[in-house]
Amino acid sequence: MTNIEKIKRKSLLYKTRVEYGDYTINHIEGCSHGCKYPCYAMMMAKRFGRIKTYDEWRRPKIVENSIELLDREIPKLKDDIQSVHLCFMSDPFMFGYPDISELSLKIVKKLNDNNIKVTTLSKGIYPDELKKQRYFSDINEYGITLVSLDENYRLEYEPFTADYEQRIEGLKKLHKAGLKTWVSIEPFPTPNIVKQDFLRILRKISFVDKIIFGRLNYNAKVTAYTWHKGFYNHCVDQVQEFCNQKGIDYYIKKGTETSVDMYR
Ligand code: SF4
Repeated sequence: MTNIEKIKRKSLLYKTRVEYGDYTINHIEGCSHGCKYPCYAMMMAKRFGRIKTYDEWRRPKIVENSIELLDREIPKLKDDIQSVHLCFMSDPFMFGYPDISELSLKIVKKLNDNNIKVTTLSKGIYPDELKKQRYFSDINEYGITLVSLDENYRLEYEPFTADYEQRIEGLKKLHKAGLKTWVSIEPFPTPNIVKQDFLRILRKISFVDKIIFGRLNYNAKVTAYTWHKGFYNHCVDQVQEFCNQKGIDYYIKKGTETSVDMYR
């Protein structure tokens, strides 16, 4: 391992309140990707005094006793766990951080060895090791976040992530190896933030097994686009129609589809 900072935690596995999650772990604190939507995890870390600045958030620390904690916690929680998600508060395959990928792979292996399904979500590039099918379970689901194909948008809002083509190619390799893949299209921006052809994005990921779609949380930029509710409703229709045609599972995040008051 390189000289990435290490911390210790007292516990790791916990039940998430995220609507499509079950159990989750955060074996990394901070995230070099530095998304500017803004990043909810960074806002929470600031609120609870764990970091003070954006630059501090971008210097990830790894939980060095993660495997020991899992050895202690898995036997107690195993019967209650449907799946474990890596992760909601950082990125398990952070772009340019092999130490983090290495620890994430060990964690996936540890959970799979205990017959626990793992789901992952990343804006990095998946390592080829995941294709060793006898080593990792084939019930796992590997996902990327993809809200645009416009590199100018990425550089402004997800400045230190893997570029979109690399991200998609990394996922496609896992799909070709017979693994389950998914895409989180969240937080999807309104057209006043970036003009884009939504169907083009959907077509690009038509190989995946599942799509999760969610809006960008309301902020001044979203509400400045007065037809934002109608826009998101139309996107939901497009996701549903596309997925039904291609036989892809989908999940629409709560609050993305809303009733539209025609008089406002
Ligand atoms: S990848 Fe996720 S955790 Fe990392 S900065 Fe972006 S939104 Fe935050």
